[in-house]
Amino acid sequence: MAAPVDANQSLTVGAALMYRATRLEVALFPTADLAQYASSGGSGAANPSGNTRFTVRPVIREFTAPLTPSAALDAITAILAEHAPRATLAGIGLALDATIEQRAPDPSAAPEHPAAPEHPVVTMGKLASWQAVPLVALLRERFGVPAAIATLPEALLLGEVWFGAARGARSAVLVDVGRTVAAAIYEQGRLVQRPFVGQIGHLPVAATGPRCACGGVGHLEVIASAQALVRRCIGALVEAPATEALARQLAGGRLEALRVAQIWQMACAGDPVATALMGAANDALAFVALFLLMTLDAEYLVFSGPLIHASTARPSHLEGAPDLPAAANWIQAIRDEVGQLAPPQRSADLARRIVSATLHQRGAIWGAAALPGMARSS
Ligand SMILES: [Zn+2]
Repeated sequence: MAAPVDANQSLTVGAALMYRATRLEVALFPTADLAQYASSGGSGAANPSGNTRFTVRPVIREFTAPLTPSAALDAITAILAEHAPRATLAGIGLALDATIEQRAPDPSAAPEHPAAPEHPVVTMGKLASWQAVPLVALLRERFGVPAAIATLPEALLLGEVWFGAARGARSAVLVDVGRTVAAAIYEQGRLVQRPFVGQIGHLPVAATGPRCACGGVGHLEVIASAQALVRRCIGALVEAPATEALARQLAGGRLEALRVAQIWQMACAGDPVATALMGAANDALAFVALFLLMTLDAEYLVFSGPLIHASTARPSHLEGAPDLPAAANWIQAIRDEVGQLAPPQRSADLARRIVSATLHQRGAIWGAAALPGMARSS
C-alpha cells in the first residue's frame, strides 16, 4: 500500500480478480479523493489540486488454483487486515472476469442472502464454485459497507473516465484487446451493465479465416486478440524461416516469450507474416471501433491492452536483436485507419475520438474503486 494508513482516514477498496480467479489485486483509495473526482464529474478542470492520480500501490496475490468466492473474500480480508488494520472502510468495488446478471429478488431466498432491490449474480465460465454467486450481497455481508461489482472491461472503462484518457466524458466506450476482445459502454454517468454488453469477441468480422474455439469462422477474437495473434504468428513460423529468425531474436531466443507488440514491430519492419496478421487485426479493430463510434456517438473510444504500448520502442537494446526501424505508434495507425474508413465529412472528428488507455494494467482497480461511488450517485 502507499503511505501508512491514518486510522481515521476513510478508505475505499478497489479490487480486481482475474485470470480465472487466480490473481487478486487490492488497493486502498482515500475516499475523500474519490469523492472529489465524483463531485467534479471526473473532470480534471474541476479538480483544484490538479492531481491526475493519487499514489496507490496495489497488493497483488497470485494463486495456483482458482479461488472460490469465499476464498476470494478471505484473501481480501487478509490483505486489509495486514495493510490497513485500523482503517475505516467506506465501500468496496470488485472487478472480475465474469458474466454479471441482475436477478429479481427471490422471496424464498435464504435469510443469509437477503434479496436486495438489485441482486447481481456472478458466473465465471465453467468454474463450479462461481455459478450464479450473489457476490454483492456477500461483499456487503463480509465488509459491512456499500459494495459494487463490474466486469474487467467495465472497470477499465470507468477508471479511464474518472482518472484516465476519457476524464470528464459523459459518454465513452472501451475496447480491450488482450486475451480476448471485449468492450464496455459508459453513458450519462453510468456503465451500461447488462449480461452480454460488449462481448464482441465472437463477432464474425471476416467471411473466411481461422476457426474460433467456439466453432465459428472469422471471429474478432481469433483475428485480433493479442493472445490469438501471438499463437497464430508462432504457428506460421514453421513455413517462414526468415520470420522465425526475426521472432526468435526479438523474443530473446524463446519463442514462447514473443509478445504482440513485437509482432507489430515486425509488421512495421515489413515482415510478410506479421504484416498479414496485423493488417487483418487492425482492419477488424478499426471497423469495430468505427461501428461503435457511429452507433453510440460516444465522446471517446478507448483502446486498452498490450498493443497500445507498441509504439516507437526500438528492440536494438536486446542482445542480438536486429536493428529494426522504430515501429509506428499502434494507436495512431488505428486512428488513421478509422479516419480512412469513416465518411469523409466526419473522418477527422471520429478519428480524433480514438485514444489509448492511460492507466495501463492497473486500470481495473482504479475503476473498481470508483464503482461504489457510481452506485451511490445513481
Ligand atoms: Zn467464436
